Amino acid sequence: MKNITHSLAEIVGPEYVSTAAEDRYLYGREPGLMPPHAPDYVVLPKSTDEVQQIVALANRENIPVVPMGAGLSLTGLVIPLKGGIVVDMKRMNRILEVNEIARYALVEGGTSQGALKSYLEKHHPRLRHSIPDAPPTATIAANVSIHGQGRLTQQYGFNSDLVSGLEVVTGAGDICRIGSCAFSGNWFSKGAPLPDLSGLFLGWFGATGIVTKVAVKLYPRKKLRDVEIFVTDRTDLVPEIVYEIT
Ligand SMILES: Cc1cc2nc3c(=O)[nH]c(=O)nc-3n(C[C@H](O)[C@H](O)[C@H](O)COP(=O)(O)OP(=O)(O)OC[C@H]3O[C@@H](n4cnc5c(N)ncnc54)[C@H](O)[C@@H]3O)c2cc1C
Repeated sequence: MKNITHSLAEIVGPEYVSTAAEDRYLYGREPGLMPPHAPDYVVLPKSTDEVQQIVALANRENIPVVPMGAGLSLTGLVIPLKGGIVVDMKRMNRILEVNEIARYALVEGGTSQGALKSYLEKHHPRLRHSIPDAPPTATIAANVSIHGQGRLTQQYGFNSDLVSGLEVVTGAGDICRIGSCAFSGNWFSKGAPLPDLSGLFLGWFGATGIVTKVAVKLYPRKKLRDVEIFVTDRTDLVPEIVYEIT
């Protein structure tokens, strides 16, 4: 165990790996109702290269890996049932690009919804992404990994449909780019002009790889916004009402 801790510390720096009882306690549970189970190691990488090295080490040593964003999915998804390494992605939180013309934002795999929302409001006030109604610390990569839904889902689809490029460290430790980013510096499409392979990673809850970069589509912010409240006991009418107002 000491050797593994030492190897992890060599990858991320000693301050970003922990086997402390209090950290293992905290990372072994989430706010939902699922029973806890502690990891053996908690590690916080800063780069794709570090994620790749962690996965390579885990493969060599046959240790399970669970990626974690904010741990807010409430369904036990980040509880490491077999122990092993929890990879907390929060340090990979940079917003790398906002392309106004192609309308996408490229962020690192631990970037929170709130960070992108604030950034867009400040620097690109005409654009918005499909933010879920989760707490703002919830991460974008985790949300698309679980086919999450946001405020634009009604019009445009699940948040995983609104991805326009992925960089993933696969379970085998390879770095894989999906979409137009695979052959250009542009992240405008997760498929065309190539076959769309994003389904190998979206909706897999992190089981097929760790998303280290994700691009999400941006949409025009409405010039006028208003709040209307409807009350009805006719649930059969709700789809039609939503259809009319979106
Ligand atoms: C009050 C409240 C409201 C909510 N409202 C919504 C809502 O409107 N819409 C909605 O969709 N959800 C909602 N949620 C659920 C959840 O919070 C969100 O889906 C959130 O985006 C999950 O992000 P997270 O960072 O907390 O994910 P986590 O719980 O950390 O991870 C979720 C899954 O993704 C995996 N994962 C994490 N990071 C990565 C990565 N980089 N690469 C690959 N896999 C990864 C994890 O292993 C896990 O399987 C809500 C939750 C709460 C508490």
